[in-house]
Amino acid sequence: MSRDLERSDSRIGFMGGTFDPIHHGHLVAAESVYENFTLDRIVFVPAGSPAHKPDSRVTSARHRLNMTRLASESNPHFEVSSVEVDREGPSYTIDTMKHFRRLYGPEADLYFITGVDAVVQIPEWKNAGGLFEICKFIAATRPGYPTENFFRFRDQLPPKQRRAMKVVAVPALAISSSDLRRRVCRGSSIKYLVPEPAEDYIYAHGLYDCSEQDEAVRRPIAF
Ligand code: ATP
Ligand code: MG
Repeated sequence: MSRDLERSDSRIGFMGGTFDPIHHGHLVAAESVYENFTLDRIVFVPAGSPAHKPDSRVTSARHRLNMTRLASESNPHFEVSSVEVDREGPSYTIDTMKHFRRLYGPEADLYFITGVDAVVQIPEWKNAGGLFEICKFIAATRPGYPTENFFRFRDQLPPKQRRAMKVVAVPALAISSSDLRRRVCRGSSIKYLVPEPAEDYIYAHGLYDCSEQDEAVRRPIAF
């Protein structure tokens, strides 16, 4: 039986994202949540067609799914779901979490994991109120995104939603997929920023070469 269909777990974390590509920032955040919240497992859910990013800028779902699988395969409590990739149309978290609630049953504790940058956008998501009825949220700290903004955001939520929103401090890794795409495009190293199997996949498939990128991406970042 696929691990995807095991239903005996009762505390499950779901990490949604574009994962274009997945990197060690995602993995360390997920592992920290797993440990701090004593979860049974973490499920990575690559967005099929991210609702908030224009399609033309996003690498094909198949490549993002493959890289996410490769990056997480060495961790026995990580797995990857293709539910959003397999679904037609824009990927809405509410549809995804309804699916997982059906799969794991009414008693399971479901947590949706985001970085502190992404969590403040939740009120703009489709049926955000409904989402709070299905799962709790865990925000992972992220370099460059002050945690104070997260607390300010949380403080103005209705009490029930505020209680459903936790934060976890993760070892700071200032890595982002956009920076990785720029690095590959200009021929800079991504070694140690991305798990090796995902790095190999990027080069084997010629992902993020400059032909797919903006002119702005080609410019080196000045410090
Ligand atoms: P992009 O630069 O393309 O937006 P990203 O690095 O932010 O890519 P996403 O796929 O957008 O990656 O992120 C998925 C989730 O992982 C989001 O909730 C995001 O906040 C979180 N996340 C991404 N990078 C980190 C990091 N370095 N530390 C903690 N959380 C992170
Ligand atoms: Mg992002």
